[in-house]
Amino acid sequence: MGSWYKLDMKIHEYQAKSIFRKHNIPVPSGEIAHTAQEACQIASRLETYPVVLKAQIHAGGRGKGGGVKLAHTPEDVEKFAQELVGMTLVTKQTGPKGRKVNKILIEAGVAIEQELYLSFTHNRSTATIAIIASAAGGMDIEEVATTTPDKITTIHINPLLGLQKNQCHKIAAGIHLPDEHYGGFTGLLADLYTVFIQYDCTLLEINPLVITPDGMLALDAKIEVDDNALFRQPEIRDFKDPQEEDELELQAAQYNLNYIKLDGNVGNMVNGAGLAMATMDLIQQAGAEPANFLDVGGGASAEMVEKGFEIILQDDNVRGILINIFGGILRCDVLAQGVVEAAKKISINVPVIVRMEGTNVSEGKEILAQSGLNLITADSLKDAAGKVAALVAS
Ligand code: ADP
Ligand code: MG
Repeated sequence: MGSWYKLDMKIHEYQAKSIFRKHNIPVPSGEIAHTAQEACQIASRLETYPVVLKAQIHAGGRGKGGGVKLAHTPEDVEKFAQELVGMTLVTKQTGPKGRKVNKILIEAGVAIEQELYLSFTHNRSTATIAIIASAAGGMDIEEVATTTPDKITTIHINPLLGLQKNQCHKIAAGIHLPDEHYGGFTGLLADLYTVFIQYDCTLLEINPLVITPDGMLALDAKIEVDDNALFRQPEIRDFKDPQEEDELELQAAQYNLNYIKLDGNVGNMVNGAGLAMATMDLIQQAGAEPANFLDVGGGASAEMVEKGFEIILQDDNVRGILINIFGGILRCDVLAQGVVEAAKKISINVPVIVRMEGTNVSEGKEILAQSGLNLITADSLKDAAGKVAALVAS
């Protein structure tokens, strides 16, 4: 099964730091603010200056984009908080549209002696957990990897054996860690490894991890959790932030539609998660990219189909739509009715290809044929994917 579309759950920096705190991983003290007034109150509770104001959005590159501010006085705090709350922050990772800032983290400014990079991910091809570390912290790691790959140290952990002492040593040597921090660093690696496993993370990244006069601190924190493991991660599920969700995803959730927006231009509506994944793989094999994942579910009503179709049509990137339904509990005629109803409400200005099989397929085809809609039918899934890919490419 393809894993090129990432459905993992992202959480905010402040949420990741709250997990770190619970597991002894040092982070600066700080709290979350929704208004400039709250920001000022938090700053006065911190009883230290400078303080740092950090926009909380599900994207990195905030520092360079103007989303991280250093305040030396209470007046600074108020001014920067007013600037940040409500702003649309554009960073290298948000895309040109940017993201609205609804919350800011107010935390103690720390005296940075050195910035390091540290991350944990899965390495699927070796079935190990990779730790990637670099002395070039605070920078875009992809850039470091291409320009100065020798500055990156990677180790692979056999999950059955866990993190080994010699591996800690290799990382410490790779980042030229001063000896006096070695003890603290190995403890930190062990705690981070525990977090990575315990929370079913697919990514745990600290950029930068900093050396200060008082020891090492995680100055930034990024965690992504395997979406398939969310059923057993209630703490992570509670971190879900509706304000970070895509508008179309929110609409879909209201109708119990399993929809995830992606970056491609082929909209697709399918019943069953497995069939949806397979359809998306075939779209990609045909040379196009899916614009979404949408599983209308086995028992979808005509209304749900209608709403799903409407949501796909609202996505500006969509240049063609593939409907692939295996009629079982969801009968083909119900599906066809939903599509026709949706089409009556919203003008369809992209080609729509329909492939259906199963219960009441002839009734379904009849409804579509009589609707007067310009629909293209396909016989096999491969045929359908090929047709839609050719249409969006033209
Ligand atoms: P992003 O990765 O989104 O740019 P970071 O949290 O990494 O955001 O912050 C960007 C930079 O801001 C860091 O590399 C660091 O130099 C500085 N910074 C962030 N938090 C603090 C802090 N608490 N004290 C001092 N400097 C900070
Ligand atoms: Mg960072």
